[in-house]
Amino acid sequence: MTGGLDLDAILGEIAADMAREEDRGKVADYIPGLAGVDPRHFGIAVVLADGSMHVAGDADVPFSIQSISKVFALTIALGKVGDQLWRRVGHEPSGSAFNSIVQLEAEHGIPRNPFINAGAIVVSDVILGGSRPTEAIGEILRFTRHLASDESIRIDEDVAKGEKETGFRNMALANYMRAFGNLDHAAEDVLQVYFNQCALSMTCRQLAMAGRYLMAGGAHPDTGHNVVSALRARRINALMMMCGHYDGSGEFSFRVGMPGKSGVGGGILAVVPGIASLAVWSPGLNDRGNSQLGALALQQLAVATGWSVLNPREMAVSS
Ligand code: GLN
Repeated sequence: MTGGLDLDAILGEIAADMAREEDRGKVADYIPGLAGVDPRHFGIAVVLADGSMHVAGDADVPFSIQSISKVFALTIALGKVGDQLWRRVGHEPSGSAFNSIVQLEAEHGIPRNPFINAGAIVVSDVILGGSRPTEAIGEILRFTRHLASDESIRIDEDVAKGEKETGFRNMALANYMRAFGNLDHAAEDVLQVYFNQCALSMTCRQLAMAGRYLMAGGAHPDTGHNVVSALRARRINALMMMCGHYDGSGEFSFRVGMPGKSGVGGGILAVVPGIASLAVWSPGLNDRGNSQLGALALQQLAVATGWSVLNPREMAVSS
């Protein structure tokens, strides 16, 4: 499927096209550490099943991965409690904003899926599992480094601190779920884990590397060991496809047709099972809080490569 494709040329062309785009969306400013990021950044990295890496633009500039971390946290939590997790968090698209509180009331404190904030906070609670927040944060950092085979990945403490100081809505979500009995630990401790995980700072290259297990049927390409079972990897991909962009998930699938997970830092991790793991970053967001140019770039890549559930010949980038 990758034979005959000149990926470096394709990515170079995408980066050049994105540099010309004027409507770049709006950088998230509700998290202090993100407000000052330059919206002109654009980076993309693609790692193929054969291990080759292809990049263009700012692929080596670190950014805040924010909600993309929910994929790695979910993987850890499933490893700890298995399918029992689905008693505390659903696997349906939410159709509402990533930080919505109304759905929780109607559904008795059980979040719709692990990728909206409420669901990810439950996942943090599971990872905490009776340990101290610093231990759980260490576990998430070690796991992410392991996935990417890169010990230089770090957490941006300023971003985590800024979010703690302003994250009143996440505090409300956590306390609300605690009232329903769906949080075992103090909201403060759970959020310490959650904010630090969201503050993971990674480049497109590192992020694409970290997503390889989802491309490779759950196996870590460098060790051959299973990170998760093949079924679980497929299910995480299915969740990314259905829920990875919150109330913009339908739009992303409609236009790009790949499993993808976005974050308010402007990153998107996307997976083409058996073929590629890819990461794109452009800090400006659309009105659903997803990277505006990130989705456009992935749509262009899908058309050029055919890596999509859509038929690329029938896709038009402009429509
Ligand atoms: N840390 C962010 C928040 O809780 C994550 C949101 C996101 O990336 N969509 O608001």
